[in-house]
Amino acid sequence: MKRIQEGIHQIVTPFPEFERAEAYRLREDLETHPRVTRSLPYVLPYFIASRGETALVDCGWNTDDAREALDEQLSEAGAGIGDIQTLVLTHAHPDHCGLAGRLKDESGCAIWMHDLESPFLESRYVAPEELLDRMDEWFGRHGVDPIDREEIERGSMPMRFFVARFQPDRPLQGGEMLKVGDFAFQLIWTPGHSPGHICLYEPNHQLLLSGDHVLPRITPNISLHPQQRPNPLADFLQSLETVAKLKVKRLLPAHEWDIAWFQRRIAELLAHHVERLEEMLAVVRGGEAMTAVEVARSVTWATGSYDSFIGWMKRAAIGETLSHLVYLAHEGRLAQFEEDGLVRFRAA
Ligand SMILES: [Zn+2]
Ligand SMILES: [Zn+2]
Repeated sequence: MKRIQEGIHQIVTPFPEFERAEAYRLREDLETHPRVTRSLPYVLPYFIASRGETALVDCGWNTDDAREALDEQLSEAGAGIGDIQTLVLTHAHPDHCGLAGRLKDESGCAIWMHDLESPFLESRYVAPEELLDRMDEWFGRHGVDPIDREEIERGSMPMRFFVARFQPDRPLQGGEMLKVGDFAFQLIWTPGHSPGHICLYEPNHQLLLSGDHVLPRITPNISLHPQQRPNPLADFLQSLETVAKLKVKRLLPAHEWDIAWFQRRIAELLAHHVERLEEMLAVVRGGEAMTAVEVARSVTWATGSYDSFIGWMKRAAIGETLSHLVYLAHEGRLAQFEEDGLVRFRAA
């Protein structure tokens, strides 16, 4: 646990592949030796306590070890799981909402989440068969081989066992206020990484709890997929502009570590996507009409080549490629068309 300031505590909860002691160690190590790790070791929930009121922002995967980690660090902050009054979820990804159902059972806390995220709880984690069929058809249209499709779809199935069932008590639209004693957080809708992603901003203390919207080293995955809005990269860039207007002394992200250089990070993220758009545009302009998979094979990836990726990495790469291609098509810089059951892009 790291005390950010009086009343604001940063908690470390491990990913299922990591023991909590290892996650704690990595949290310390990464701050002193910043680097991008191949897989994420932990999530950073924030516990806020002031004048007898409390809130937790995000929680972690639904594992016993993550629950223990939370319990252990809440007690360092002078509280326990039973003291959580409000649980705010930045979005419905399993590393952020996995434990929510269990925490609600234990504490009776009210769960707040954006309205656009709620349908994903059922369709992804409770009864995913229909979504898997839709994904199969969708990946096929974007040029993914049947063998890869099977691996991609199987890859996401184990995740559902790491989410405890729950329903949000308060659906959000963005623009709401979360008061916790002396703190008053503005809830800001920041679609892009996920359709109903929210950030929490405390103007008096100039703190931004950014979930996965802004991270210090990792560029958040911005994917087009069957449950996304039509142009997620445009959403994301717009959401970056929204938070760029805020005065932020400390950025409190849900992964990696907290930083003070918020504006510089926004500028880096914007530059990254401009570069990525140019790269994809050049690839498509240099060839025949291409599917998303053909483009994904031709562009560079920090983690290796597309064909060396395992299932979930291929899925992320295709989603990321498509969000850029579709953005370019919306801007009229590429043309998108469907032929013989395949979606392709060509120079406009
Ligand atoms: Zn996420
Ligand atoms: Zn995350």
